[in-house]
Amino acid sequence: MTKANREKILAGLEELYPEAKAELVFSNPYEMLVATILSAQCTDKQVNKVTPAVFAQYPDATAMAAAAEEELYPMVKSCGFRSKAGNIIAACRIIRDEHGGEVPHTMEELTALPGVGRKTANVVLFNAFGIPAFAVDTHVFRVSNRLGLCKADTVEETERQMTRLIPREKWGQAHHWLIWHGRRVCKAQRPLCAECGLKEWCEYARNKKPASEE
Ligand code: SF4
Repeated sequence: MTKANREKILAGLEELYPEAKAELVFSNPYEMLVATILSAQCTDKQVNKVTPAVFAQYPDATAMAAAAEEELYPMVKSCGFRSKAGNIIAACRIIRDEHGGEVPHTMEELTALPGVGRKTANVVLFNAFGIPAFAVDTHVFRVSNRLGLCKADTVEETERQMTRLIPREKWGQAHHWLIWHGRRVCKAQRPLCAECGLKEWCEYARNKKPASEE
């Protein structure tokens, strides 16, 4: 892909989604961390349904550190895996014991917490602390590769290539642009290429002519 095309796509995404932001509801780093752990393989909408009661009962990491898994799990069961409840409590115990009750804000410290991988850490770094970070989830991976912005087989390689391509100050926003585009237009099973504002420059649309355009 030419540099000019990449620039058109990035400018197009920014124009399409100027208001793109996290769809998880949170008001501080602790809430962002808990919501992001719960959101793995679950919709943000479902997470937003359960978190108000969770945050009311456990308002900070120190309160959560004292929770029992048998109490928390029923509250978050609809977000999947039991291990999420255990990881949240274990992470908050480390936050209480090693970070004075405050969620840390480095990649190294965040990924040392149970249930926190690189993607979750990047989401927390940008959304909770405003630190430039580019998280690659399933939407970001799919859309970045379909567009031809990168050519990567793994999320790690996608992150490496995309962070070389996008100016550092736009990493966090670009992550949201790609998620919003993936959820609304460039859907996994059936991308809506005919109505996509990026089809002129998109490699997938050019090479594969998806069914929606036939
Ligand atoms: S043209 Fe199609 S494949 Fe390309 S970004 Fe748009 S919806 Fe996705």
